[in-house]
Amino acid sequence: MNQPAPAPEVVAPLALRPATIAARAGISTDTSYGAVAPPLHLSATFQFEALGRPRRYDYTRSGNPTRDLFGQAVADLEGGASGCVTASGMAAITATIFAVLPPQGRVVVPADCYGGSWRLFEALRSSGRIASLVYADLSDASQVRAAIADGVDLVWLETPSNPLLRISDIAAISDAAHAGGAVVVADNTFASPVLQRPLAWGADVVVHSATKYLNGHSDVVAGVVVAADAERGAEIAWWANTLGLTGSPFDAYQALRGLHTLHLRVAAAQRNAAATADLLAAHPAVQAVHYPGLIDHPQHDLAVTQMDGPGAIVSFRLADSAAVAAFVDGLRCFCLAESLGGVESLVCHPATMTHAAMSPQARALAGITDGLVRLSLGIEDTADLLADVAAGLDRATQAA
Ligand SMILES: *Cc1c(COP(=O)(O)O)cnc(C)c1O
Repeated sequence: MNQPAPAPEVVAPLALRPATIAARAGISTDTSYGAVAPPLHLSATFQFEALGRPRRYDYTRSGNPTRDLFGQAVADLEGGASGCVTASGMAAITATIFAVLPPQGRVVVPADCYGGSWRLFEALRSSGRIASLVYADLSDASQVRAAIADGVDLVWLETPSNPLLRISDIAAISDAAHAGGAVVVADNTFASPVLQRPLAWGADVVVHSATKYLNGHSDVVAGVVVAADAERGAEIAWWANTLGLTGSPFDAYQALRGLHTLHLRVAAAQRNAAATADLLAAHPAVQAVHYPGLIDHPQHDLAVTQMDGPGAIVSFRLADSAAVAAFVDGLRCFCLAESLGGVESLVCHPATMTHAAMSPQARALAGITDGLVRLSLGIEDTADLLADVAAGLDRATQAA
């Protein structure tokens, strides 16, 4: 006689690790044909089952299955409740501000924030929608405390910051902001959830320009907002739908495809960035290197605590704009272009490109001088990139 089979042991399903979440985002979700790669639903509208009986989706501005796959994947990577996919990073920022900022709101913003965010905050102030806008170096705890002590509704974080790679203490700032009743939003574009998850350190909302690492191939402009809390997430999605800021299904499909290789891309780009930072730090034409992975970066220890790696953006100072021109002219492996986070390496002159929208005074306050250069390292062969940078630095030396 056969023994009765032992009762199966009940095992809680293991939470998947982030690289698995990214690689499997949207995989095998098709219920019609069992497609492994997720289908692209371009339809603007969805048929009702009957009068008064809508299905899960009714109209693509309000909701779309392909877009939701991408949004949920980013939410899972960030450890948030829900992800709202928007037409750009700026659309993500706009939806967030409408959802969290009260009328006559008081806002604290990093002095060296993304140029487009700076322009939006300035426009909201000059049109009276923001009552008080304080710029501070959020990597400096005393400036943060002073800015928050005056009463604030929203603290905007960008860490690492753009283009100087300053690191702000997300946990300390979130504690101080929450004690005063403020909401904390972190722009996590530079780090990506591979290297930093701000919600785990106390931020309430994360915004992304998915144009950068999440898509990673410089062929989509998109954004994502992830809220820690489902209710706030629903409010942000409501505003994105109401203002018409939601992203296109095709862009979400492309970005979902890019997300599958996020961990590999970030790791390869970060290796190239670390090697480039070392080369820059040792070259006499370079006056300063800004990279959180360098031991002498002012917030290196905080970066080690808060991040899983220093990232793939490096900025550095040459003598002046003539030296920058000599460096840039003749690069073979870097395109002179705005943006970052793609598989290809880019070089940018913040004073005349990404941060040209800032007033000269704001640039000076942020430390964006004419000799500052920003590199976004891609996934090319390290030796090729180093040779290219070394040749550029030699040209810069001769130009001086
Ligand atoms: C690019 C960028 C944005 C804006 O995103 P878009 O997709 O260009 O609208 C916002 N924040 C940071 C840090 C960025 O790099």
